[in-house]
Amino acid sequence: MATRPHTLTEAKEQAAEWAAWIAVGASGAAVPLAVLGLRGFPPWWQVGLAFLMTLGLTLVARTRAQWARHVLVIAWAVLLPMLVQDPFITERSALGVILPSALALLLAGPRSIVVATLISHAVAIARSPHWLDSPYAQPEYLTIVVVLTVTLLGVERVLTAAVARANATVTLHERAEALLAHEVEHDHATGLPNRRRFQQALAALLDRVKAGDDEASVLIFDLDGFKVLNDSLGHDFGDRLILEVVQRMRPMLPASASIFRFGGDELVVLCRGEGGGRRGLELAETIVELVRQPFDLDGRPVFVTASCGVAAVCAEHDRPDAVLRDADVAMYRAKERGRDRVEVFDDEMRGKAHRRHQLEQALRSALANDELSLHYQPRVSATDGHVVGFEALARWKNPELGNVGPVEFIPLAEETGLIVPIGRWVLGEACRRLKELQATSPKFGGLRMSVNVSGKQLLGREDFTDTVRTTLAETGVDAWSLELEITESVLMGSAERSIERIAALKALGVKIGIDDFGTGYSSLSHLRKLPVDVLKVDRAFVMGLGQSPEDGAIVHLVVMLAQALGLETVAEGVETEQQLEELRMLGCDEAQGYLLAKPMPLADAIAYLQRAAGNLPSTRPTSRAAE
Ligand code: C2E
Ligand code: CA
Ligand code: CA
Repeated sequence: MATRPHTLTEAKEQAAEWAAWIAVGASGAAVPLAVLGLRGFPPWWQVGLAFLMTLGLTLVARTRAQWARHVLVIAWAVLLPMLVQDPFITERSALGVILPSALALLLAGPRSIVVATLISHAVAIARSPHWLDSPYAQPEYLTIVVVLTVTLLGVERVLTAAVARANATVTLHERAEALLAHEVEHDHATGLPNRRRFQQALAALLDRVKAGDDEASVLIFDLDGFKVLNDSLGHDFGDRLILEVVQRMRPMLPASASIFRFGGDELVVLCRGEGGGRRGLELAETIVELVRQPFDLDGRPVFVTASCGVAAVCAEHDRPDAVLRDADVAMYRAKERGRDRVEVFDDEMRGKAHRRHQLEQALRSALANDELSLHYQPRVSATDGHVVGFEALARWKNPELGNVGPVEFIPLAEETGLIVPIGRWVLGEACRRLKELQATSPKFGGLRMSVNVSGKQLLGREDFTDTVRTTLAETGVDAWSLELEITESVLMGSAERSIERIAALKALGVKIGIDDFGTGYSSLSHLRKLPVDVLKVDRAFVMGLGQSPEDGAIVHLVVMLAQALGLETVAEGVETEQQLEELRMLGCDEAQGYLLAKPMPLADAIAYLQRAAGNLPSTRPTSRAAE
């Protein structure tokens, strides 16, 4: 019975309970029936027995004891044939004699079935004055009983097997689930618990820290240059390196610290116990120092360093993610400050991270909420001062954050990918407004518009050429009047790809300008391959004109280079007459800067143009005089 499937046992216990309650009800009904004598007075001892059996059944139902069930079956096997008074076999009497066996199937096991059958028949036969003449001893009847018993035993077996199979499935299922749970919560390559587990552990810890019961810190390690190693030597190599790093870290960790892998090369240590952030910092420094020692992989020394950010868990952290974000900010600071070092998250970083978070949230809905606009800064001819066109510059005004400059929000938009929809909007808006500006006067039909294009837009998944083509078609702007400004660093970054994309744009007929030229270390050979039209001399060099001979020399060189390549030159950030004068002498084609006009809203730009139209052919008589 011990090996009996658990659930069948349970089913039988339940059956016993039911039987007990049915018996209680039945005996409850038997008493008034007996008293009223509707079916003749049964002997009092029979009533007494019925009560005893009821009591026994209730007891079984209560205790569910194994032995009680066997005793019950045997009691029925003895008592039922005694209650049956018919001298001949009737349905009722036969039932009375075979019932204990059926009960045994219901409540106990196969052995009980056999025992119950034997006992109930022995009792039935014993009640007859002449045992051998008892109808229960006749071969025909006995044959039926044997067949019935064997059937009962068969049913028992089938039931047991079915339950065993069901149990086996459950076990398999449970094991698969456990395996899966492990897989979901652990990194495959290193077997280390992963981000999910970390979050669970940190969530529990955060509660304790908030309650003042514990201190803790989170350390994020990022292997410097791991991506390059991984890409050039393969993921297997990367995984093995991580394993080596982990093995080196392990002995250094106190018992209260645990290590997690977040995929890639990010290893995170959760450090519990007194000392909080200070303790985390000490541990981080030890580990960074250790990683610096060369690793041996297949007999060849591998040098790596790690950058680490540490954040103390504190009550202000509302979620585990917030702690992680802080540690991440500190880790990026460590990267910025030259890698191979540890930085601890501090108040200054907190302020910046908070601002960044706020900006990011707000920027997500800026377009939908109509918070973006464009300002337009004129670009004028350096030789005769006529307005050549405008540069469209994005502006953002948020009801809560106020005006946010593009120097702050454009990089954020680039990091978050929001630059793609924002850039698309800028392009469309600039083209629409160009039409209005061109319509100011017939003299301005040739006006051009420059639009800044970020690397994410140009080189991203989405086909930027398509965006430009449709925008031109939808706004009715002529391709030649649109100029796309792309910074030098973007063009140098992914050379082949950018050449391809620029060529496709050029094929549409738009002009391409290199923005911030002089800051991106273009190679001359590369520059020759790029099909561009305009070089925009960076503000930094224009600023030094007339003061720093080096800056003057650089601007001079850029202009000469542009002329040699057949490109136009534009100087940006022109603030003084002296700078403008010098640019003109150097042969620079166009100028843009506060001296001429600051970026302004559309209405002002239209007014500016109307004034300029009145003064044509030049807005700057001084410039013309110098010609
Ligand atoms: P940028 O393309 O180099 O734009 C020129 C920046 O110099 C503008 O700053 C302009 O206001 C400023 N500027 C113009 N003249 C002078 C001057 O005489 N002196 C000084 N000190 N500054 C002058 P802004 O508008 O703050 O834009 C900053 C940068 O944000 C832009 O630099 C550009 O890289 C980016 N940006 C602005 N709008 C967009 C856009 O729609 N898309 C993309 N991708 N980037 C944009
Ligand atoms: Ca620009
Ligand atoms: Ca620029």
